[in-house]
Amino acid sequence: MIAELVTTGSELLLGQIVNTNAAYMASELNKIGIDVCFQTTVGDNRARMKEVLTHALRRADLVITSGGLGPTRGDITKEVSAEVMGRTLALNDECAARLREHFARVGREMTDNNLRQAMIPDGAHIFVNHAGTAPGVAIEQDGKLLVNLPGPPSEMKDMLHRSLLPFLLEKYGAEYMIVSRVLHTFGVGESKLETIIDDLVRAQKNPTLALLVRPTGVIIRITAKAADEAAARQLIAPMEEEIRRRLGDAVYGADKEALEEIVGRDLKARGGTVATAESCTGGLVASRLTDIAGSSDYVKGGIVSYTDEVKGEALGVDRELLAAHGAVSEPVARAMAEGTRRVLRADYGVSTTGFAGPGGGTEQNPVGTVYIAVAGPNGTQAEKHIFTGTRTQVKFRASQAALAMLRRYIKNKDGSIPNHEEEF
Ligand code: ATP
Repeated sequence: MIAELVTTGSELLLGQIVNTNAAYMASELNKIGIDVCFQTTVGDNRARMKEVLTHALRRADLVITSGGLGPTRGDITKEVSAEVMGRTLALNDECAARLREHFARVGREMTDNNLRQAMIPDGAHIFVNHAGTAPGVAIEQDGKLLVNLPGPPSEMKDMLHRSLLPFLLEKYGAEYMIVSRVLHTFGVGESKLETIIDDLVRAQKNPTLALLVRPTGVIIRITAKAADEAAARQLIAPMEEEIRRRLGDAVYGADKEALEEIVGRDLKARGGTVATAESCTGGLVASRLTDIAGSSDYVKGGIVSYTDEVKGEALGVDRELLAAHGAVSEPVARAMAEGTRRVLRADYGVSTTGFAGPGGGTEQNPVGTVYIAVAGPNGTQAEKHIFTGTRTQVKFRASQAALAMLRRYIKNKDGSIPNHEEEF
């Protein structure tokens, strides 16, 4: 089946917004075996949109639009779609009732033009919008299917997954499915990772392997193509197992799992609590830990100890230790982790101290150097990292390293890995 995507909106043509909808829709449709052969963008102009849709319906079996379903006069996609499919629009009572409910729920007055969104081409299939107000529609005619999805990416994605993809799968079945599994790693650089799985990468066929550098670390994407999802997952499983066997603890999670979520789960499972002492990360470790719902079960609190004074007074770091080694040092990182663990009475204390840049740094500890320590029931472990990147990137990477170290400590009771100065 040949598909064409028609993204609408003058903002796209003016370059004011990037056409992320087309990329997203294309990648999701390809996953279920639908070939996207054309992508067209057209502004909010009736005559030109009509021309584009008429042309698209000639050369494609499935035409999917995004955008222009809003309540204003400029939002014309549904009207033009109805026109090229020879349908008339009429107020749909269910859609109108849902709109009224929505406005009542959010306490806003519903103006008459909002009802334009409840105008549906006759005989069209309706996709309820769970992330906004404009419903989507699918109009079928002479073996062709024309679908209108909303423009806001969150609404388009929700409707695509919730309604359109299941609708297409049921209607046409899938010739094949492309399924990806993402493994998240941390602590092993891209080049080293590549050498560890080099033979697998070279021999890749189905599934294929890709190594990609992300702010969270290196990810390994395993992608399989098969008749259906279950068959694709069966192809992925042995490859995943082999990669996990080779990389061990460096793989911390899969797909949408975030490191803070995994650490939280580990802490909860053991009934442990954590406290932070942060210098260069400025509270980012605590912030990420508390991004997870229910984290009050295991996060005791945190101290942003940016100055030596606070390191001394709030965490009890010895002034002589600070004078002897400097704030950015392993002994101070250890004392900070032990200090917050003691002061906040937590099972684990985690600390960061470093030079996030762009200024600062010494010959021994250049910009990007961050010492991280974890104190717990089995003593204190410390690591030195040298990160590259902007100040924001260094802060994020340091927070990631701190969470990864905490995870290893909790899991292995021996969180140490040799000092490594690896870039990623
Ligand atoms: P609304 O009901 O909010 O009016 P709509 O269906 O009419 O939605 P548009 O008005 O075309 O959609 O777009 C709304 C917003 O969604 C745009 O301002 C833009 O921020 C975003 N958007 C629209 N199309 C795209 C696209 N192709 N790629 C990325 N973002 C888009």
